[in-house]
Amino acid sequence: MLPSDQPPLAGGTARTDRVLGAVVGSAVGDALGAPFEFGPAGVYTARFPDGVGEMCGGGGWDPGEATDDTQMAVLIGESLLERGGLELPDIFGRFRRWAGADPKDIGLQTEQVLLSGDPWDLAAPIHFQRSGRAAGNGSLMRAATPAVHFAAAGRDGTMAAARRIAALTHGDAAAWEGTAVLHELIRVALDGADPVAAVPDTLRHVHEDHRPRWATVLAPGWHPDDATEFNGAVWPCLGSALWALRTTGSFEASLAAAVDLGGDTDTVAAVTGALAGAVYGFATIPQRWTDPLHVPLPGYGDRVLRTPELAGLAEQLAA
Ligand code: MG
Ligand code: MG
Repeated sequence: MLPSDQPPLAGGTARTDRVLGAVVGSAVGDALGAPFEFGPAGVYTARFPDGVGEMCGGGGWDPGEATDDTQMAVLIGESLLERGGLELPDIFGRFRRWAGADPKDIGLQTEQVLLSGDPWDLAAPIHFQRSGRAAGNGSLMRAATPAVHFAAAGRDGTMAAARRIAALTHGDAAAWEGTAVLHELIRVALDGADPVAAVPDTLRHVHEDHRPRWATVLAPGWHPDDATEFNGAVWPCLGSALWALRTTGSFEASLAAAVDLGGDTDTVAAVTGALAGAVYGFATIPQRWTDPLHVPLPGYGDRVLRTPELAGLAEQLAA
């Protein structure tokens, strides 16, 4: 399934094309899925019977407007660049500034943690202790930027970074492990290898308490209909993204499959887009999707990032 003869982006290498693909692909998935969030299965096919999906907007979103998924990914990416590495209190501070600016969309769990007033290293554990529920998909959806940055740190390095960033908002280690898996699969894809084939190896590096449940949703025969939770939870979200990648043959088809599942469509498509973009590369993302793509940044003045800025961020993160 891997396009090894894929043409590189003009002036770039095949690896650069995959780096841009992961970050821009995730944002494109977010914006494509946003108008359908919490809709039923089959929404994409119903809206685009000819299979040619557009950035249609709706549900409060302009065509091509990315949501919290991409906003948080940008905040992580800019922190990594400006702080010269992983500085968790800085990322948490950026998240909190953004959350306090009333973004159009924010995950319930993320909002409760960020606006709790608790310190950066206690907010998520306190929330988990009180609520008993902290396995939302909110740490997966923002992982494209750190995954691109920490790929150079190798398997153990990127998985460790994923866990620490996830833990800023998610107290349940299931979310840490899932985000670690996503980081590693993106690392493999950026190397030009097949992330689907890397799943068994990756699972061996998942904490043993969480391995069986992750092995279930990442198994080759798993289907989103097998999910035991809504796809706003971390397990079916990543399982569905991998399913969408595994059962289709192009960037575009994988995102169509992801959005068509319904539910948390922007986030499942953002995760799918990160993986599929890393596999197929930026050059395969339809221009009718990258042209209208834009990412407002609440809390940061009137800043709006478009595809060239996202691509620049991705390239710097991988440098
Ligand atoms: Mg969102
Ligand atoms: Mg969502």
